[in-house]
Amino acid sequence: MDAAFDIVIVGAGMAGASLAAAIGARANARVLLLEAEEHPGYHATGRSAAFWTESYGGPGVKPLTTASGPLLRDLGVLTPRGALTIGRAGQEGEVAAFAARYRAVGVEIDLLDRAGIEARVPNLRADWTSGALEPSTCDIDVAALHQHYLGQAHRHGVPLWCRAGLLAAERTTSGWSLALADGRRVTAGVLVNAAGAWADPVARLAGLGPLGIAPYRRTVAQLAVEGPVPDDLPLVLDVAGCFYFKPESGRLWLSPHDETPSAPCDAAPEEIDVALAVDRFEQVVDWPVRRVEHRWAGLRSFAPDRLPVYGFAPQDAAFFWFAGQGGFGIQTAPAAADLAARLLMGEGHGGVDPAAYSPARFG
Ligand SMILES: Cc1cc2nc3c(=O)[nH]c(=O)nc-3n(C[C@H](O)[C@H](O)[C@H](O)COP(=O)(O)OP(=O)(O)OC[C@H]3O[C@@H](n4cnc5c(N)ncnc54)[C@H](O)[C@@H]3O)c2cc1C
Repeated sequence: MDAAFDIVIVGAGMAGASLAAAIGARANARVLLLEAEEHPGYHATGRSAAFWTESYGGPGVKPLTTASGPLLRDLGVLTPRGALTIGRAGQEGEVAAFAARYRAVGVEIDLLDRAGIEARVPNLRADWTSGALEPSTCDIDVAALHQHYLGQAHRHGVPLWCRAGLLAAERTTSGWSLALADGRRVTAGVLVNAAGAWADPVARLAGLGPLGIAPYRRTVAQLAVEGPVPDDLPLVLDVAGCFYFKPESGRLWLSPHDETPSAPCDAAPEEIDVALAVDRFEQVVDWPVRRVEHRWAGLRSFAPDRLPVYGFAPQDAAFFWFAGQGGFGIQTAPAAADLAARLLMGEGHGGVDPAAYSPARFG
């Protein structure tokens, strides 16, 4: 006989793991967490740039990021970093508009002149003249957070089956009959789609229409540069969105802020994107690059309006979306998981209004 579960979560990245922990903590439902790979966290979750910043992802994502802050702080996974969004001569208006946009939704941001940004970014090239400093930005210990959720799910009795990708989902009168890559079959009352870049393919397996959740590749390179990287260097972002970099254990993590459409896959960095990143970096600071030590890429998956998708499918109350976490799925994880668990359990919503994230918005 097939093993029977009330809720089966597909995908054990940050989304699936955090939701498994949240549901496990509040219900005595039988929950199963499925992962296609040998190890959870192999895809987007294991490849992030690991920061928490309230201005990232847009004002629509900010409530989730802000609500997650105290929980992440309590878990001890945040380290203060600060973020500095900089502009060249002539871009002062864009920097001011960026600051105004996020101040309007309650983010603390200070405008800095050339002297102010130079004091924080030594050897800054002359054409960078203004900046917006967001002091509350932190680094996140992503691996510790993911392990925390997996551990919590385990303690609440949620099994994690790896190398057990969902291959087929057949609708039954009471839910789903699921076929897994390891040959097992299980039944589920509710199927939760936390499959990251594979969110639309998983919906298709279940016979539902895709929402247009599209994966985009983003590249990160780890650089060794001449001279020491200041420990207190903030995360430095370009107001025009062409790069960001931050220190990491005496090295720099640098991204060209690329966003190349991709099929769901094991994303790999392209040399051209790494070269582009280094070229842009050299236009910002006079810190000769000694070598690129390491490079990686991951997929950030966005719904068409770039807001996440949390909630039951309007066409099928046994299918729940927990997808479209884009470039903010780590920093929003605690609030997103709490909100999704409340929706799944039929509880009232907490501090964050779920309406903007409902799959019903796609008609
Ligand atoms: C370069 C980069 C930098 C980033 N920086 C940040 C940052 O600084 N801060 C931040 O908050 N976010 C950041 N992000 C975004 C963040 O990493 C993602 O939003 C988050 O990891 C998404 O988590 P997820 O669980 O939805 O996806 P994933 O981690 O990709 O997990 C989905 C899982 O589903 C599994 N799966 C797929 N199909 C099936 C199936 N059929 N059966 C079973 N399992 C399946 C996959 O194997 C995968 O493990 C960054 C992302 C990238 C790529």
